[in-house]
Amino acid sequence: MLHKDEALILSTRAFGESDKIVKLYTLNSGKLTGIAKGAKNSRKRFANTLEPFNHIDVEYFEKSTATMVRIENADLKESNSGIEVSLKRACLAGFFSEFTERLTKEKEKNQALFHLLETILHAVKHVEFRTVDILYYELQMLNHLGYMPNFVSCVYCGKKPGELELVHFSPQRGGILCPGCSRTIPHRTYPQGLIPRLASPDHPAEAVSDDVLERKGRELLEEFISFHLDVEFKSYRLLRSVTG
Ligand SMILES: [Zn+2]
Repeated sequence: MLHKDEALILSTRAFGESDKIVKLYTLNSGKLTGIAKGAKNSRKRFANTLEPFNHIDVEYFEKSTATMVRIENADLKESNSGIEVSLKRACLAGFFSEFTERLTKEKEKNQALFHLLETILHAVKHVEFRTVDILYYELQMLNHLGYMPNFVSCVYCGKKPGELELVHFSPQRGGILCPGCSRTIPHRTYPQGLIPRLASPDHPAEAVSDDVLERKGRELLEEFISFHLDVEFKSYRLLRSVTG
């Protein structure tokens, strides 16, 4: 069956003499693995469209028995041009694309995630990301993937701590602890104001400096991701090395 959709290209690799395997994140079917026959040779057919981080209109053929779809046509909607100008931009695009690729299942539609990745890839080309931007986009991705850390209520007893008590976080349990539960459950303690700011970017900033937000917020999220999602992103180490 022939499908038309739009897609963001997460990654590509050469396959055999002349083909290309392309990981797509589509608007209507989520992640797909496609094979583009002759893509390495035929300049006319896929002229520069099947490159990482491009946004394309795509036509693909799907056989119910095959795991891969066959890419028939691709037209550029928005090119990746602008990402190549710095290593940092390339790392950012690579990281958020890998994040999407690793944490989604094939053919599981998630339009909110599609639009978020579209926004991120667009933003990477036009603004310089600060560490806090990276944090917020990561949190938004986790949110759309259903893996948002619980910053609202104690993950053990369900109580909602007051704002000044929002300092205990258990990466293993994926969220905050109230003062009572924090006495018995292993966790980390974070500076006051950090968790409320992670929970909401619009939260008044005075309680915690950007520097603390970046350092401690990053630490919290790294631990959460490594305990909770059990994945390590190849691109992340590289990104850290260029963002400091
Ligand atoms: Zn509790």
